Amino acid sequence: MSKRKLGIMAGSGTTKQPRHWSLGLLGSMEDPESIVKKTENIVVIRDKYPKAKIHYLILPYEDINSIYKLTEKHISLLEEFGRLYGELKDKHKESSLRAGFHAVPSMQRLHMHVISTDMISPCLKTKVHWNSFTTNYFIPYQDVLKGIKENGGVKKISNEQHKSLMSTELICNQCTFKPKNMPQLKEHLLTHVK
Ligand code: AMP
Ligand code: ZN
Repeated sequence: MSKRKLGIMAGSGTTKQPRHWSLGLLGSMEDPESIVKKTENIVVIRDKYPKAKIHYLILPYEDINSIYKLTEKHISLLEEFGRLYGELKDKHKESSLRAGFHAVPSMQRLHMHVISTDMISPCLKTKVHWNSFTTNYFIPYQDVLKGIKENGGVKKISNEQHKSLMSTELICNQCTFKPKNMPQLKEHLLTHVK
């Protein structure tokens, strides 16, 4: 059974104090092995369990729990997220990258995923993994920024929407192929590699 199911605290890495698994990003934000870039307000880290060939997380040092805590006062912070996303796109010109947030994040501290569309990775295992990046569960960066600018915040999805997005039938994110299962999807994804 996984640590998560057992509710066991995960070690924090750099401190002796145990942390709940959902706080794991806080350790990685301080871990030189994970950090790709830091500014005064923001850190870019490598996702520890990447779901594609390229997978980064962009996080603020400010203690913001999720997109649902963002208000108009965070617009400049979010714009800085966008600039760092732009830098990552420049660094990986050969790949197609997307940036966005999970509608119901599992980890604490606001984090924006920057992920390549190949979705090729040994860590991509389940339908939940797949649907969390390829359905509307993945809220694009631009939509979050627009939501904050126009409505002052982001609207939460309902439990029903959550369930329905997670149980969406598998479909390739690069063509119309509908695989029967995850192994077939993963094999199929390789056919899109140039
Ligand atoms: P979510 O909360 O669903 O938006 O996703 C959390 C992301 O954090 C996932 O992509 C995980 O692979 C990643 N992750 C989990 N633990 C860590 C960690 N300790 N350091 C870096 N990334 C992590
Ligand atoms: Zn395809």
